[in-house]
Amino acid sequence: TLCCFQVIRCRAAVAWAVGKPLSVEEVEVAPPKAREVRVKIVSAGICCTDNHVLGGFFPNLEFPIIPGHEGAGIVESIGEGVTFVKPGDKVIPLCIPQCGECSFCLNPDSNFCIKSHLCEPQNLMPDKTSRFTCKGKQIHHFLWASTFAEYTVMPEYAVARIDAATPLEKVCVLGCAFPTGYGAAINTAKVKPGSTCAIFGLGGVGLSVVIGCKVAGASRIIAIDINKDKFAKAKELGATDCINPKDLTKPIQEVLTEMTGYGVDYSFEAIGNKDTLIAALAACNMNTGVCVVIGEVPAGALVSFDPMLLLTGRTWKGTPLGGWKMRDSIPKLVTGYLEKKFNPDLLITHTLPIAEVNKGFELLRGGKR
Ligand code: NAD
Ligand code: ZN
Repeated sequence: TLCCFQVIRCRAAVAWAVGKPLSVEEVEVAPPKAREVRVKIVSAGICCTDNHVLGGFFPNLEFPIIPGHEGAGIVESIGEGVTFVKPGDKVIPLCIPQCGECSFCLNPDSNFCIKSHLCEPQNLMPDKTSRFTCKGKQIHHFLWASTFAEYTVMPEYAVARIDAATPLEKVCVLGCAFPTGYGAAINTAKVKPGSTCAIFGLGGVGLSVVIGCKVAGASRIIAIDINKDKFAKAKELGATDCINPKDLTKPIQEVLTEMTGYGVDYSFEAIGNKDTLIAALAACNMNTGVCVVIGEVPAGALVSFDPMLLLTGRTWKGTPLGGWKMRDSIPKLVTGYLEKKFNPDLLITHTLPIAEVNKGFELLRGGKR
């Protein structure tokens, strides 16, 4: 294309300050520099992590910022030296990148690349400048992705090229919610056939854990949420039991222990709440149970727990993005999606234009997602 190296004017949802709603603005998106790519975003998802950004729960993020880290799009132009993608390629931005060179990338057991945006002291591009400006002000990037912009720029190691046949309106959830939940079950917990599982929280992430447990062959999948409207979908995806802790007279961990004898084999916390983190740990089998921490508790919140819960044999572990090496794995997950091995379309509850992004956040906060 001829016009690659021009500034693009387009719309983006800008968070000017903590606690303020997003404001849809015209922004200027500068061309990609060396080893960067500019992507036209076709669809973006709203994850609870974006809500944490707006609420100021994320440590060290500088404002103003364009949030959004789930998305799918098409490479519009590439900077000097880019070899991973070319203009016209369909891509998914990677909120955990894969540079392929750092010690974490070279370790087969790790997926948390050191080039993660969270490891940068400022949420800018690698050269410490921004590609976004609005009303003369520099706007910060988020998790390399900033998918709440019609065009965005990211380092080439933070995009995965996907199958040219992929419908881009649907696959944005393969950027975060789906790989996180699905991978928490498959990679982090390594759920075994015939096992029992409990999932706390049935948002996009928790429902994806349900899909993972089902694919792994779990015999009992217990889905827990304080919003009973989430249960129909959980059942459709494979949950065998649904529990609303508000209906109980006993703590949820006691109920789960009674239901399964000695506690579930695997529990997953997909809410980001101190109390359910402890409940999920206590609900898994005292001897071999594995509890996976997925939810983000607001920055600075501390949890106290009885170490005896671990001494008897339980394992407590966390998962960034479901443990996938993202640039290698996302294209394979997209292939699995195209082959209908799993159906994350069910995670999509509403489709809104960018102008209604704040309505999307209201739906998220109201649990109606
Ligand atoms: P969401 O808000 O869509 O879903 C959370 C669900 O939990 C809702 O259905 C809500 O009704 C339910 N809930 C709230 N309080 C509850 C309680 N006390 N007991 C039972 N259920 C309760 O969120 P999401 O987008 O699915 O994300 C879930 C969490 O995962 C968030 O904290 C998010 O930041 C985190 N996350 C982590 C990673 C990672 O890499 N580890 C990736 C993506 C998201
Ligand atoms: Zn790396």
